[in-house]
Amino acid sequence: MTLTAENSTRWHEQLMAEHSAHNYHPLPVVIAEGRGAWVTDVEGRRYLDCLAGYSALNFGHGHPGLVAAARGQLERLTLTSRAFGSDQLGPFCAELATLVGKDMVLPMNTGAEAVESGLKLARKWGYEVRDVPADRARIVVAARGFHGRTITIVGFSTDPEARGGFGPFTPGFDVVPYGDADALRAAITPETVAVLLEPVQGEAGVVVPPAGYLPAVREACTAANVLFIADEVQSGLGRTGHVLATRAAGADADVYLLGKALGGGILPLSAVVADADVLGVLRPGQHGSTFGGNPLACAVGRAVIELLREGSMLQRARALGARMHARLGELVGQGVLSARGIGLWAGIDIDPALGTGREVCERLCARGVLVKDTHDSTIRLSPPLVITAEELDGALDAVTAVVRELG
Ligand SMILES: *Cc1c(COP(=O)(O)O)cnc(C)c1O
Repeated sequence: MTLTAENSTRWHEQLMAEHSAHNYHPLPVVIAEGRGAWVTDVEGRRYLDCLAGYSALNFGHGHPGLVAAARGQLERLTLTSRAFGSDQLGPFCAELATLVGKDMVLPMNTGAEAVESGLKLARKWGYEVRDVPADRARIVVAARGFHGRTITIVGFSTDPEARGGFGPFTPGFDVVPYGDADALRAAITPETVAVLLEPVQGEAGVVVPPAGYLPAVREACTAANVLFIADEVQSGLGRTGHVLATRAAGADADVYLLGKALGGGILPLSAVVADADVLGVLRPGQHGSTFGGNPLACAVGRAVIELLREGSMLQRARALGARMHARLGELVGQGVLSARGIGLWAGIDIDPALGTGREVCERLCARGVLVKDTHDSTIRLSPPLVITAEELDGALDAVTAVVRELG
């Protein structure tokens, strides 16, 4: 292929270096097309996408049913604002509420907005239902969690990179170690209105809490009359082989935060899902979003819900996940310090003696497999649930080969 500017990786990298804010450090690949688990870069090279947009692409690139839903709605109606109703909003909210098993849905756009909305909701609920004195509400969160990038959210992050230089921060948060139910119980005071947790910590490196932790969190929240808010923006909607990772661990949260895969990898769509005695505290004028619940997003969301309801995606995640964890387990002690995960979602810690996580990702990229490092030496694998067993084996062969060549 002759290289012109538009199909030269270097040309795109230069444009991005000069004109795109440097808040990311992408791998040296510039993608032009995607289909299923595969993407093609501007120079025509093909890669297996084993990141899947941090799980926003759970159903793969260009899923035909999702694209058809988007295309059909695109021609009819895309935006009304919430000043008026649309014929997609009611059905979307009803179908998502049914899927999750709660009464009501508050549609937003990004994951961070769902988290912010959940925090606002918890404070209002605390003042109105629990009679917490004005401006005293506190929320317990977990160390090493990830919930997005707004000022409030990075304010309670324990990652110095995420919070450094962005203060002053929103007060009212108490941080406890993740996975320690006693510490969580001890942090709850009469002013605590909610506990916010990821049922599996994604950005921390796919950290699955000890068995019994989430049920213990549920018990502590019930005992203190505190809302359990589960941030399932990344863990929810199929990644773990279940609609909700919290339920799979034997607990039920009061408030579920969903995002990423809810928009089918086509557009941003997030939601706060809870019963009417909680979400009902929000009344007209007290919260909103110009794009939240727009008909285009709702139409795609409805197609996503239908895919999840049908069940085969969840089944794939469980079966392929078992295969992936067995293969990754074989690498422990062979250059990999530990491997863990659930469903089609894994974190592996590379022995720092072999190289950084970044180096492993660059070598995998050169072998046609896209993954992303997190926290120096951890690699996170989250292929789309539509990946075939053969494609997954190919990706795992590449991981094995890279670990061997570095060792
Ligand atoms: C990605 C993520 C968010 C933030 O979502 P954005 O759409 O990037 O704002 C929040 N919580 C969790 C658990 C996430 O993984």
